[in-house]
Amino acid sequence: MVLGAHVSASGGIHNSIKNGDDLKCDAIQIFLANPNRWESKPPTEEIIEKFSDAWNDSPIQDVIVHDIHLSNLASPKKDVLEKSFLQFKRMMELAQITGVQHIVTHLGAHLGEGEAFGIKQLCNSFDELFETSDAPDVEILLETTAGQGTNLGYRFEHLRDVIGMSKHSGRFGVCLDTCHVFAAGYDIRTESDCNSTFDKFDEIIGLERLKAFHINDAKSEYESRVDRHEHIGEGNIGTAAFKYILNDYRFAKIPLIIETPKMNTMHGKNLTTLRSLVNET
Ligand SMILES: [Zn+2]
Ligand SMILES: [Zn+2]
Repeated sequence: MVLGAHVSASGGIHNSIKNGDDLKCDAIQIFLANPNRWESKPPTEEIIEKFSDAWNDSPIQDVIVHDIHLSNLASPKKDVLEKSFLQFKRMMELAQITGVQHIVTHLGAHLGEGEAFGIKQLCNSFDELFETSDAPDVEILLETTAGQGTNLGYRFEHLRDVIGMSKHSGRFGVCLDTCHVFAAGYDIRTESDCNSTFDKFDEIIGLERLKAFHINDAKSEYESRVDRHEHIGEGNIGTAAFKYILNDYRFAKIPLIIETPKMNTMHGKNLTTLRSLVNET
């Protein structure tokens, strides 16, 4: 099992490793830039070196980067598309330099132009990113979304289509967010719900594409298409889904990242809850 959390990188990305170590994480997820701004000061060479040294000295196996919140690579608006593209290219190149292989991103929103338009736009954006960025080892993990507003990614078919239409399909994986799929209408509340949801995932996308999980309980209701995370075991999903994922050998090497609320005070408790759900062998 590779269990971890989204942790703060404030004060420099090297601090994220310490934050992860303090929580005994096997994997962490971070932002490489301020998620609410288009432009952030990039880390200095010194900070990047401190990050690499800290990671080398740490038991943390995987570091995953999450895209910024403003990003919309499916946007019909030229200015937003261009800003999203430029920041994403910088992020890919920084991931390459820091040795991070995976960037998790949502699929963006079509803003009324329709899902087919959004998927095509997104696919074009990624193809251009793969062809123009100096980041040959970086892979993109498309995240399943709750499907708020005109957001894409709430059907497994959306992810399948982006991957399938790309000229660089081999550079995509998928990150499954438990809160998002539940809110999107893929039930996971019982073991048999989990079986059928993962069967669907396998049939439509293929389990070999699954490279990360976001482990979040849901404050939002089933099929509500609303994205609100809750502490583990305190939301509408409940612990059966987490017990299922934590104990399934198919997921034993896949990073399981919590993005539950109040990360500075509650991550420890949520990780302890998850560890208690692992069967003794
Ligand atoms: Zn997520
Ligand atoms: Zn979410």
